[in-house]
Amino acid sequence: MKEVNIKTSDVYTELMARLKYPISERFRRVLQKLVTPEEGKLLLELPAEPAELAQKSGLDEEAVQRKLQEFMERGLVIRTSKGLFCFARDMTQLHDSNLSSAEKWIDTELLDLWKEFRDGEWLQTMAGGLGDSYVQFIKVLPAWKAMERSPDLGELLPEEDIRELIRGADPVAVVSCTCRRSIRKCDLPLDVCLQFNRGAEYAINRGAGRRLSAEEAIAIAGESEEAGLIHTWASGVSRRLTAICNCCRDCCDIFAIGIEVGTIEQILEKSRFRAEVDQDLCTGCQDCVERCFFEAIEMKDSPPSKKLKATIDEGKCFGCGLCAVVCEPEAITMKLVQT
Ligand code: SF4
Ligand code: SF4
Ligand code: SF4
Repeated sequence: MKEVNIKTSDVYTELMARLKYPISERFRRVLQKLVTPEEGKLLLELPAEPAELAQKSGLDEEAVQRKLQEFMERGLVIRTSKGLFCFARDMTQLHDSNLSSAEKWIDTELLDLWKEFRDGEWLQTMAGGLGDSYVQFIKVLPAWKAMERSPDLGELLPEEDIRELIRGADPVAVVSCTCRRSIRKCDLPLDVCLQFNRGAEYAINRGAGRRLSAEEAIAIAGESEEAGLIHTWASGVSRRLTAICNCCRDCCDIFAIGIEVGTIEQILEKSRFRAEVDQDLCTGCQDCVERCFFEAIEMKDSPPSKKLKATIDEGKCFGCGLCAVVCEPEAITMKLVQT
């Protein structure tokens, strides 16, 4: 390979700069695990078409094609519709696409390095970067099973009905949840991260995602609700639907920043709905209490009943519907609070 004008010792520093992340020893260790210095030099030559990269690197074009395909499978590069290969846009994109890659590209050492980086600095960096701003780039989509149990809702908007969002996308795919895969604090379902349109094409083309029919994807959304996972859509990042996450409280970056650091209201937009309890139907089983990520449900005296009954603090409720899904006597329904 021809000498590209970057010293080997500086490749990882250059990669961090390209990913818009400050110099970090933990992130360097992730990058060193992900790419050799020679591979790093190739990435720094992007964006490029294979022929151009072959010329720059001195490799033959076929070898470059193979390497770029491998980079794509490992979640390091994306290919634009014009056939141009680009390195990950930033550290977050690299994290998400690398960790959702097929099993053969992921080992425990890599998962541990990402986890060490995330726990050791990334969460604090992200939380600190928010300051006092309310960016709310992620929104809660209510559980469709909760909406089905709530008779008086009227028409849902297409962008808040997960089933309509799924039916309107083509193609649809599922990949592993990157947070649960690396953090490993819970045993909730892993293969539930739904991808749509461009996001699904990318996942399928690089062997990371399994193509789904709309009804299969709706079933996965329903199973996620039953398991206690919240649907979230990063609609503030792109209005074009590329993914819907099914998030847990223990591993998810969003909830780790939001709940542990106390900035959840700054980043997460509530749905237009809130849960309410019909106390005559509530048996006091408490199944809903544990389900709520936001501690919005308390068991309180409800005379003349001798049992404690569930009560919702509407101010804390984000309208996810998970409590309604688990409530066997269907004492919890969702009500519209914003038009
Ligand atoms: S944001 Fe939620 S679903 Fe998406 S990868 Fe993280 S935990 Fe998984
Ligand atoms: S799950 Fe339903 S029945 Fe059980 S405490 Fe909650 S509201 Fe009451
Ligand atoms: S009370 Fe909690 S679990 Fe129920 S809808 Fe509100 S945020 Fe979700």
